Amino acid sequence: MSRLVERVVHGLRVVIDRDQCVGFGDCVKEAPEGFKLDEDSIAAFVEPEADEDSIAAFVEPEAVERERLLRACDACPVDAITVWDETGRQIVPSRVGI
Ligand code: SF4
Repeated sequence: MSRLVERVVHGLRVVIDRDQCVGFGDCVKEAPEGFKLDEDSIAAFVEPEADEDSIAAFVEPEAVERERLLRACDACPVDAITVWDETGRQIVPSRVGI
């Protein structure tokens, strides 16, 4: 099973490399609506709750505004999160510069 998980949020393609993640939680601190640590303390996307009684209450990555999402992704100390914009340009990690 691949350890890469991917979501499109605000038109941005966000990929978490769960093999790279060391579970410091910087992304979660910055954007808890979008990221969480799973039971193994590895970053994952927050999924909508599958609770039929509280359909309106679920949390989605889209609840995070674009700038804060990018800050959260760029906060990763081991570059486990990569983001591509709508044109396919890699924008996180920003210091890669491609
Ligand atoms: S900031 Fe990076 S290392 Fe830390 S939990 Fe998030 S993905 Fe994992």
